[in-house]
Amino acid sequence: MPLPPDFHFSQGSLQDFVDCARRFQLRYLERIAWPAVQAEPILENERHIQQGELFHLLVQQHLVGVPAARLTAMAQGDADLAAWWQAYLDAAPAALPGQHFPEVTLSAPLGESGERRLVAKYDLVVLTGDGRSVIFDWKTARHRAPRRWLAERLQTRVYPHLLLQAGFDLNHGQPLAADRIEMIYWFAGFPDRPERFVYSSAQATEDEGYLHSLVEQIALLAGGEGVWPLTPDETQCRFCVYRSLCNRGTVAGSTDDADYRDFEPDMDATVELDFEQIAEVEY
Ligand code: SF4
Repeated sequence: MPLPPDFHFSQGSLQDFVDCARRFQLRYLERIAWPAVQAEPILENERHIQQGELFHLLVQQHLVGVPAARLTAMAQGDADLAAWWQAYLDAAPAALPGQHFPEVTLSAPLGESGERRLVAKYDLVVLTGDGRSVIFDWKTARHRAPRRWLAERLQTRVYPHLLLQAGFDLNHGQPLAADRIEMIYWFAGFPDRPERFVYSSAQATEDEGYLHSLVEQIALLAGGEGVWPLTPDETQCRFCVYRSLCNRGTVAGSTDDADYRDFEPDMDATVELDFEQIAEVEY
């Protein structure tokens, strides 16, 4: 089954493919909405997801100029959200001089043919006056992910790579320098322990080859028929909604054991590409 003509890759869909090819097939090709929960207890998990979404909204509103006092009032009534919000105000992680681009979406062609696109919606990009390009990503997971786990996530590769490819549009048409791009994960529950990754030309070259190879693998599988390979790593199945469909169990994993996942919806995958609005680049 071929990819839908309007399909665009995101860090989330590529991460799904790396985690399990069958999950990618079910979610993006067959578009099966399987009636299972991602993690238990359901209500607690849903509440945590909602808190995370509200936190992102508060920060976004703050970055576009809504007074902090008004937003603080909105955060009251939820102890977790209020604590995250206060931590954000105290740490002021985004208080860098320069141009701020909250919730900005970028897109660029991906793959040899250039038919497919890579898209990302960033929590915040700051172009500083001294030539740095800083990507911020707000994390609200219960556990603070270690550096080695983050380093392996597609997000850590896709976001700087795409900013390098498409970020010139934010920079008055001037290209960004790979070794001046950095990505900062800022954890609302661990405000004193952000994680910073500095990009480089060598990493950009490696990432380009890696992303192209993933797209080639997906295109090869999509050109064939049948069931795509199920992951041999059954720990992936604990928090996958397709577990009963795949005969990989019927009980959702516990949020207590959910390592560093924050179960955020993949906002990149839901972006409707409007090329009038999206900063993009042609190779
Ligand atoms: S349940 Fe496991 S094998 Fe099936 S799609 Fe999910 S991760 Fe893949």
